[in-house]
Formats: sequence, C-alpha cells, structure tokens
Amino acid sequence: MLRKRIFIGGIVQAVGFRPFVYNLALKNGLCGFVLNSGRGVIIEAQGPAAAVQKFIAQILQNPPALSRIESVKTQNIALKRENSFIIKTSRRAGAAQTAVPPDIAICKDCQKDIADKNNRRYRYPFTNCTNCGPRFTIIKDLPYDRAQSTMKPFKMCPACRAEFENPQDRRFHAQPSCCAACGPRVWFVCGGKNIGGIEEAAAKIKQGKIIAIKSLGGFHLACDALNKAAVARLRARKNRPHKPLALMFGDIREIKKYCRVNAEEERLLKSAAAPAVMLKKRRDIALISDGLYTFGVMLPYTPMHKVLFDILGRGGALRGGHGPLVMTSGNISGRPICIDNQEALDDLGGIADGFLLHNRKIHNRIDDSVLFELGGKTHFLRRARGYAPAHIKLSSPLKKPALALGANLASSFCLGKGDKLFPSQYIGDLDNAGNILYFKETVKKMQRLLNIRPQIYLRDAHPGYYAAAYKPHAQKVLHHLAHALAVAAEHDLRRGFLCFAFDGAGLGADNTIWGAEFLEIGRGKWRRAGCLKPVRIFGGESATKDIWKCGLSYLLAAGFNDAQIKNILRPADTAAALCAARGNINCYTYSGAGRLFDAAAAILGLCAQTTYQAQGAMLLESAAARGASKACYEFALEEKGGLISVDTAPLIRGLAADRRRPAEAAAKFHNTLARIILAVALKLRAREVALCGGVFQNKILLARAQALLAAAGIKVYTNNILPAGDGAIAAGQLYAKYAGFV
Ligand code: ZN
Ligand code: ZN
Ligand code: FE
Repeated sequence: MLRKRIFIGGIVQAVGFRPFVYNLALKNGLCGFVLNSGRGVIIEAQGPAAAVQKFIAQILQNPPALSRIESVKTQNIALKRENSFIIKTSRRAGAAQTAVPPDIAICKDCQKDIADKNNRRYRYPFTNCTNCGPRFTIIKDLPYDRAQSTMKPFKMCPACRAEFENPQDRRFHAQPSCCAACGPRVWFVCGGKNIGGIEEAAAKIKQGKIIAIKSLGGFHLACDALNKAAVARLRARKNRPHKPLALMFGDIREIKKYCRVNAEEERLLKSAAAPAVMLKKRRDIALISDGLYTFGVMLPYTPMHKVLFDILGRGGALRGGHGPLVMTSGNISGRPICIDNQEALDDLGGIADGFLLHNRKIHNRIDDSVLFELGGKTHFLRRARGYAPAHIKLSSPLKKPALALGANLASSFCLGKGDKLFPSQYIGDLDNAGNILYFKETVKKMQRLLNIRPQIYLRDAHPGYYAAAYKPHAQKVLHHLAHALAVAAEHDLRRGFLCFAFDGAGLGADNTIWGAEFLEIGRGKWRRAGCLKPVRIFGGESATKDIWKCGLSYLLAAGFNDAQIKNILRPADTAAALCAARGNINCYTYSGAGRLFDAAAAILGLCAQTTYQAQGAMLLESAAARGASKACYEFALEEKGGLISVDTAPLIRGLAADRRRPAEAAAKFHNTLARIILAVALKLRAREVALCGGVFQNKILLARAQALLAAAGIKVYTNNILPAGDGAIAAGQLYAKYAGFV
C-alpha cells in the first residue's frame, strides 16, 4: 500500500479532468481525492503500489481531449484512513495561477440532445456538458466554478443537479450545465417589443431582415447571405462597403457547395475552437467578398446557432437547403464588439431590425478567430475565441511578471509570469476611444483572472502608439525585432536565425519607417542585414487609403515620367500629386513591403482607393490566384557597407508593362518576392529562416516563399499560434525581455 500526492499543471480545469480522474480511480480501486486548485489539479491516490502506478500512467497516456498536461509532480505521503475516492470542492487559489480554458464549440452529444424531440434539452440554446460550452467568456475568476462565472445567478434545478453530481454522467461537474427549467433564456426584440424567440428571429431572417444575435463572445449581425438586398443593406448601415463578411453555414456539406475544403481545413472547421477558416471559393456569392478568392467560413458553434439553423432549414429554407448566413461582428466602426443587451440595443439600433437577446452575461468580450491552413499548420489572421487565453510555454521562467502592450493596429497585449506567456485575444485598432477602453478593460480582467501583477512593462518604440501614452516609461522594443522574436517565442528558437519581417509599417532604429526587413537574430543580439531599397512615399498617412499615391511613388522611383504615370494610374488625378511628390512635399522614406503591395494593386488597376485595411494586398493576392504564371520579374540585389538592399524598380517596370494582364502580373509579383527572399537567404547563408509580419498573412506569398526555401534545404519557421501581423508584437516584446534583447 502507498499513497501518492500528484500535482498536474496545464489546461486541466473545465475540460472534464476531475471526473476523468475520479472514474480512473474507481476502476483501479483506489482511495483518496481529486481537487482543483488555482495552480492545477491535485490528486491524492492510495492503494496497492501497482494500481497507483497504473492509475498515473493512464492519466498521462489518455487525458481528456481538451486538456493539455504540462507538468506532473508526484510525491509519496503518509497513508490515511479512507475507504472511498471523492471529488473535493475547490480550494481558492493563493498567489498561484493556472491556465484559463478557451471556449469550446458545442460537442456532438449535445448536438444530439438538442435535436431530439424527446430530450429535455430539445432546442434549448444553452445546452452544454463537460466536453463543450462557454469557458473564458463567462469566467470571472479562478478556480473555474459556476459561482465564479456569469452562470452564478442560475440555480440548478433538481434534474440538472442530479447530472452534475453523478460521476457517470456527461454533465458531471459541468459548471455551466443547465436546462430550460433553470438556465438562461432567450427572447427576440423587434420594433421595441418582445415578440418571441429564435423562431421569430429566423422568420425575420427569411424576410431579409438584419438580426443582432447575442452569441458567445459578443454580438453578431446576421442576415441571409444569399439575399443580395439584405447584404447590401447591412453593408450600407454598417458603413462597410467592401470589407469581406464572415459566413456561417449550417453544416459542412453546405460549405462544400461554395468552397473547396481539404481534410485539414475540415478538421479545423469542426474543431473545438471552431474558428472562421479562409477557404477558396468554388461558387461566388455576391457582395460577400467581391474581388477576393476566399470566403471566411465557420460552422455553428453554440447551441443557439444550431437551433437557429435547424429552424431555418425546416421551414423550407433560404433558397434550396439552408444556405449561409452573414455572421459579422456586432459593432459599429471604431467600437469593440457589443456584449451587453442594452449596449447592443443602443449601438446597433441603426443597423439591426431585430435583436435575439439572452440573460447570460458575457464577461470577457471576444471576437471570432480567423485563420487559414497551409501545409497542416494554422496561420491566424485574428486569434480570439476558442484560442485565447491559451498560453505559450517558455523553457525557463521569466525573472519578473511583465505586461507587453503590443502595437496599435489589430492589437493585443501579452502578460507573462513564471514560464508562461498569455497573449490576449485580438482587440482591434487602438485609434479610437472605444477600442482603447476595451484594451484597458481586458488588461484589468486578465490581470485579475491570471493573478498577475506586472513589475515590468514593454511597448513599441513608436511615440504615436497608444501604449506610449498608457505607459510612457515602459521599455521600448523595436517593432520588427518584436515580430522576429514572436516567432522565436512560439518555437523556442534559441539558435540564431534569419528573419524576414515584412509588414505595412513600423518605426525603425533610424527613425524611418521600416517594414521589409532582413534581420539576423542571435543570442540576445541582432543586426539589420538589409531591407528592400527605401522609396519616398508621397501622401503621408493618406497613402494607406489612396493607394494610387503608392503607385505614383513607386513609379516615380522606378524612373517613369509624368505622362506615363498619368496614363498608368488613370483615372486618379495625379497632376497636383506629381508636383508635390517631385518637390518632396508630404513625403516619407519607406523601406516596407505593405505600400509596395498597394502600389502593385494600383498599377494593375485593381484598386485606387481602399475602404478597409490591406484591401490592395488582398485584391492583388486574389488576382495572383487567378494567374498561372511561374515567371518572375527582375530585381537587383545590392550590397553596401554590410547592408543588403533590394531594388524593386525593375519589378515595378515589369508590372507596368504587364498591366493589361493583371492576373499574370500579380502572380509574377508574388513569385518575384518569394525569389527575393530566397536570394537574400542564400546570400546570407541562412539555414533557418523565419517569415513574419502582416505581409505573410498572404497565403500565396507564404506558400511560394516556403516552397522555395524548403527546396534549398532551408528550415522555415512561421507564426502558428499567434497571427503573423501585429497581433504577435506583444508576445515578441515580452520574449525580447525574456531572452535579454532589452
Ligand atoms: Zn457537450
Ligand atoms: Zn435544469
Ligand atoms: Fe508589424
């Protein structure tokens, strides 16, 4: 006989770990207990030595699907007089911390429950179990118990309580478990009146109305995606003329009617995180993502979405099967996604015709995650629901708890303590009061939830970013170094590597705008090995929207005369701009990549003015998807004083010559950039290369660069946990501190 205390750390709460341990203990005939602490799960198991060993082995071999065991410690302790194994009530965490589980999409069993007329949870929109349901969005504090979540006001009915207390039941200790008799309820508000529930909302959607739906991490705005008038109205009311809209399909078969889906993409769509996945179009739907070759697509991930699609499908459907719904974030521009009923009624009143509301509070605001798949790996455009606040594990602990504030666009922050980095969810652009409030609110909530009191602050070097006002004395980390180190953090890269950090813009060490950087990263040291040759961009901030000004700038740099430029960029009125640009008025020096993509899109006539971020680059990528060319344009690799510079003027001249065949030209543009990356990597004799920065959210460029590098025997690292864009900056800043770069 012996008794062991077993301590297990990682994602072990709210994933069915305790009942799993309990059932294993019963099977092995052990006594003792299992307990959630703020630090992880504590088990004491007593019995014959062989049985205890077997019990531990079984825990490690086959833990619950959603758990992630990161540490195990065991010790022998004195025997106790016991004759049963029990699940003890939670112990309040001390100065400890553990992981907070992300939200989990509705599981197959719960889907069956709500589809079964004879089940007591038939069409109940808050059905969940130990294997699925809300987590992060409803958790206020650790350890995770119903009383510390927004389920607290709902007192379990006897039937739910019986399931909750029965270790053999799927809902054993499922904290948010409930039913129609005891749980939250939904209602539908239209014209200021409460007129029913999901049935009535579905009827309005069929009539072409726009409905605000309180989902898991915030509100959605939904309408029939196949109803062009409805989508046009949504776009007009949301003041969003072109930005792609996310779609939700009833099931995978429906998705396959409109999109190409490979096995890995299907797995992601159906995964517990249930993100929006960027898929290649098979059949287009007007006004959803015009000009682009992809749709952002997700499956219903809450029981409420499921019930809604169930009702829509049954009643004869939205044209044919039950077609897709637009499912876009419920916010007005410059404001975060709404989470509160009154907030939604106020903010979205001018957009939505009806409101599907419920009375379970959303504690943590979070958008849908958006990603694409390449070569079996995930590439995030936005890391949020289903992923945040999962952590990145470091191989050794940080010296002090820290908070890194990230960058300004598509921002997120990152908390660090012990051997863990906790990147926050996507928050949005910090150029407006609404998102700044969201940022501050989330910093507060996450510090409390994870019990971290930062002693060190880190921020971008850019003086105009919000972080500079929020924590002016924070230690500064250079933007592109942070990009590089975010990759290092994910892959625990200790050795040196060459990083291609390509993005729109970031403040460089020489106070010019960088963004197509070749950085040699060593141990605590780094060097700018080169960049794309700087170009003078005319138009200041306005050039990111009036992207014809980027076209003009690059054409000027490539030696075109005024008449040629006027001809290429028609119908933009270039006369005054040319005059100013030649006089170096309102110009800045730029060595980035983002404006180069904008210039190419403008030169090829794909877009002169943008209405959303990266529109030029996305249209260019989509044009490249239609082009078959394997050819390249010329480029010139120069070296001066140990600094490589790549002149893109020949590339621009090639684009201008090919502009009547934009698809072929766009394909050649992408091929050329991939070639440039390979040429620089070979020149610098790199063996390991990191590709990061927002430019690598371009799947075609990423795929081509990866393929060329791999063929040359070079190992490629990318961001697969964090987005390649500025959403990774905060984690990179923290890693800079951790690895001694600042
Ligand atoms: Zn379930
Ligand atoms: Zn109940
Ligand atoms: Fe960046």
